[in-house]
Amino acid sequence: MDTGLKDRVAVVTGGSSGIGFAAAAAFLREGARVAICGRDGDRLQRAAARLAAAAGSQSVEAVVCDVLDEAAVAAFRNRVEARFGRCDALVCNAGQARRSDFKNTSDDDWREEFELKFFSVLRPVRAFLPLLEASGQGAVVCTGALIARRPEPFLIATSANRAGQLNLCKSLASEFAPKGVRVNSVLIGLVDSGQWSRRYESGEAPAGMSKEDWFAGLAADRAIPLGRLGTPEEAANAILFLASPMSSYVTGDTIDVTGGQSRHV
Ligand code: NDP
Repeated sequence: MDTGLKDRVAVVTGGSSGIGFAAAAAFLREGARVAICGRDGDRLQRAAARLAAAAGSQSVEAVVCDVLDEAAVAAFRNRVEARFGRCDALVCNAGQARRSDFKNTSDDDWREEFELKFFSVLRPVRAFLPLLEASGQGAVVCTGALIARRPEPFLIATSANRAGQLNLCKSLASEFAPKGVRVNSVLIGLVDSGQWSRRYESGEAPAGMSKEDWFAGLAADRAIPLGRLGTPEEAANAILFLASPMSSYVTGDTIDVTGGQSRHV
């Protein structure tokens, strides 16, 4: 199947780990060139080396960039433009969840979570929009979360801000449609990414429990019908679809990647 991504350029924020890394690898397999960013330079360079080993260094750019830093995002865009001359797909993926309920979430926590969930979209979109408009098949894909629609009280600030982010994407989709730029989101349930492995390694699981058993327990606790966590590659497949002309008549919409956990009709 022709995804229409050959020789195109995809930018993936947070491409050094998990879902973003799998998305970058998927774009490269389709013949696209890829630019990734992250804050930790060592991790980013290791990821870029793995991607280049599979696809060739001529197709991979990696720039240290905190998506909350407007100047750094502009420098990232400038590097992509200088190296590849275009951007056809922007994946706003960088981020993480904040685990806290109402009692344990301070005003500063609320502000930080708002800043992350909104400006991790707004700043990259602002920077890359002219290139996306020039593309002729420009697409923005946001890695969102099922909790936007089904809030979890133990992720209170993340849930509320993910809902706001989804609302924002709908507005962007309407505003950019006349310019030929589509905006969609994938809503992730529980994916076995770097984030969850790091939670296991930091001791979140009961003492002595294996990672496999902890993940199996998480799937059971959340009543995931497919009975397991998703893989980063399964999330990346949905991102690839929404980022490519295969979904050319889809905008302002979402794909749930939740193993059946999203029970809304
Ligand atoms: P990972 O921790 O594996 O990857 C997160 C990536 O984002 C890393 O590359 C990280 O690099 C980067 N990152 C984080 N903050 C910033 C920042 N401010 N600026 C630039 N890069 C940043 O997590 P996942 O792959 O699981 O998560 C990807 C996205 O999916 C996130 O937005 C997450 O919230 C969302 N999601 C994931 C779920 C899951 O079950 N895995 C569920 C629902 C949503 P570095 O730290 O070096 O900056």
